[in-house]
Amino acid sequence: MPAPTALEIEHAIRNVPDFPKPGIQFKDITPVLADPRLFAGAIDLLTQNFAPGSVDAVVGIDARGFIFAAAAALKLKAGFVPVRKVGKLPWQTIEQSYDLEYGTNTVAMHLDAIKPGQRVLLVDDLMATGGTAAAAIALMQKLGAQILEVGFLIELKFLDGRAKIPGLPIRSIVVY
Ligand code: AMP
Repeated sequence: MPAPTALEIEHAIRNVPDFPKPGIQFKDITPVLADPRLFAGAIDLLTQNFAPGSVDAVVGIDARGFIFAAAAALKLKAGFVPVRKVGKLPWQTIEQSYDLEYGTNTVAMHLDAIKPGQRVLLVDDLMATGGTAAAAIALMQKLGAQILEVGFLIELKFLDGRAKIPGLPIRSIVVY
């Protein structure tokens, strides 16, 4: 079986209008996950700049980011580190808040999740405004991570999330 192209992956992503609220075009990635060829192809594309052993950890963002980051970590023979919504991690954490359209959100990481100088990737399913990824990056940088790349299966380019992630290489597989 040939590896899927980004266009094939794009065609499998389901657009769900007005979920979870009116006006949002929700990008449903579950059809990509359900197809083993597309799922594996998405992980291959997300990790294509890196050889197994060249990365210490892949950081994933709660919750869909975990799926892609954990698979990427196994492929790269790296560890997996979760960035979670506040209040979910059991041990000592560092936290970072960021602004939403209405209100704020807070994400957290375990204090010992990354050692200073470790080579890490950040992976999430989708970049919209970039606020979530920027908060995760702030936490990773506080712990001294050497961030090699930030990867998304989907980028909503019209929201210009890249402006919130200056100075880091960003890879996105499907761009709307
Ligand atoms: P943001 O912080 O604005 O970049 O939002 C990114 C986070 O929100 C990601 O973790 C996504 O899972 C989720 N998200 C935002 N917009 C969408 C969308 N249109 N479809 C699916 N997920 C979304």
